[in-house]
Amino acid sequence: MIKKACTNCNFITKENVCPKCKSSSLSDDFSGLVIIFDAENSVIAKTMKIKEKGVYALKVR
Ligand SMILES: [Zn+2]
Repeated sequence: MIKKACTNCNFITKENVCPKCKSSSLSDDFSGLVIIFDAENSVIAKTMKIKEKGVYALKVR
C-alpha cells in the first residue's frame, strides 16, 4: 500500500488527489506520522494548523 502526503496540508492519503484540500500535489517523500483525534484541543494540530482529525505527515519534502 503506497501512501502519499499532501504537500499543501500534510494529510496522508492513498488517493491521487488530497481528499481534504483537493490538491493534486502529493509527495511520497515524507517523514513522521501525526494522528490527530481532537484537532481543537491538540497543541500539535494548532502548531501545524490542522483543523480536522486524521493522519498527517510531520514533514513533506
Ligand atoms: Zn491536502
